Amino acid sequence: MAPNLDPYFKQVDALADTFIERLRAAVAIPSVSASDENRKDVFRMGDFLADELTRLGAEVEKRPLGKQPGKEHLELPPVVIARYGNDKKKRTILVYGHYDVQPALMEDGWATKPFDLTVDEKGRMFGRGSTDDKGPVLGWINAIEAHQKAGVEFPVNLLCCFEGMEEYGSEGLDDFINAEAKKYFKDADAVCISDNYWLGTEKPCLTYGLRGCNYYSVEIKGPAQDLHSGVFGGSAQEPMTDLMHVLSKLVDQKGQILIPGLNELVAPVTEDEKKLYPNISYTMDNLYESIGSKTSIFETKDETLMARWRFPSLSVHGVEGAFSQPGAKTVIPAKVIGKFSIRTVPNMESNEVNELVYKHVKDVFNKLGSKNSMNVYCQHDGKWWVASPFHWNFQAASKAVKQVFGVEPDMTREGGSIPVTITFEQATGKNVLLLPMGSSTDGAHSINEKLDRRNYIEGTKLLGAYLHYVAEEPMNEKK
Ligand SMILES: [Zn+2]
Repeated sequence: MAPNLDPYFKQVDALADTFIERLRAAVAIPSVSASDENRKDVFRMGDFLADELTRLGAEVEKRPLGKQPGKEHLELPPVVIARYGNDKKKRTILVYGHYDVQPALMEDGWATKPFDLTVDEKGRMFGRGSTDDKGPVLGWINAIEAHQKAGVEFPVNLLCCFEGMEEYGSEGLDDFINAEAKKYFKDADAVCISDNYWLGTEKPCLTYGLRGCNYYSVEIKGPAQDLHSGVFGGSAQEPMTDLMHVLSKLVDQKGQILIPGLNELVAPVTEDEKKLYPNISYTMDNLYESIGSKTSIFETKDETLMARWRFPSLSVHGVEGAFSQPGAKTVIPAKVIGKFSIRTVPNMESNEVNELVYKHVKDVFNKLGSKNSMNVYCQHDGKWWVASPFHWNFQAASKAVKQVFGVEPDMTREGGSIPVTITFEQATGKNVLLLPMGSSTDGAHSINEKLDRRNYIEGTKLLGAYLHYVAEEPMNEKK
């Protein structure tokens, strides 16, 4: 065991109730970034964090980000940055979290008041922001306090970057990180983000990859206005018929993408990577439970997880301009826009993907010989991210999980994206680790969001232990 962990762990247990009260105070501030009326509360939450950090002896700054684009009457909440420790002999870890939350109203179906932390007999702590992301942010503050009270030297220099607009697109944050990467954040040896979730409920995970997303529109138009099928059916070429044909040529029932050349961009599965999968605690029943049916594409866990994390997928989302109400309207839509997206993985470069998509959609449409016109374009794209799970940053976290929870962590990727991850990696050039505190059942963004007491208290131990192992880990930059 890393030295000094035992007194630290004991102190975390002794302070558990204090830490829960800290979470209660934070949850009570409705820092909803999406709502104008709550903007003052988002500021209040930033002050709360700044005060807590200052009280513990950190140097804290609240950096303004200016006016909110498109809502110029609103000031963006500040990025709360802090430095705890400035010892050149120690490593420096940059941690990120966010202090704003998703909206929450009783009318949405909450069983308890969303901004009133409610702990039930199972130790589930319900409240908006409990798991996303106030619990994890406070975990870092708790770790500092427990070290001080236990009289254990803090093992690293800590840099904090806590933002207040994450749930509203992280307005202004990328520019800030890029500007500070070689200034305030320049000493960072590695980055740790605690803002995602375990794969299940029992076993912690470390996350080393996220898929990207390219989102497309296919617009087909012909007639000058919507037509009636009784009058024009059979005599006018119908945009919807063309669009259905195009959309049907994108992906098959096995999830195979039908766009020529696309699958060739995907990095092959390595032997080292393959070995990470069998240990992951996940079952097909977990999948069936979360999709609410047994309509899976694959029958095995490994294939399912790989399909979700490390292979691309294509989903058809909807058709704009199509009749979608109940009933039997006999309209022929004049213009329809099909929407689909591709979740991208290494080594799919966005512009290469776009070109293959455009070419394929055009080829398919041209083969129809339709007199309608078609346009295909990318609405937005976000890049995938993958880090080395064998880097010292991950090895340290892995040892910390073993120490606190007695198990090897699941090494996971996620199918969705967390854009700030890639911003930190590109701006600092350092390894980024995703070290989640909450579990898969926490319901971030939905009603009855919660964080289990175990995840919060053992999670605080985990964050502290991670920093101790970081201080000890040989600095291999192994890829
Ligand atoms: Zn979050």
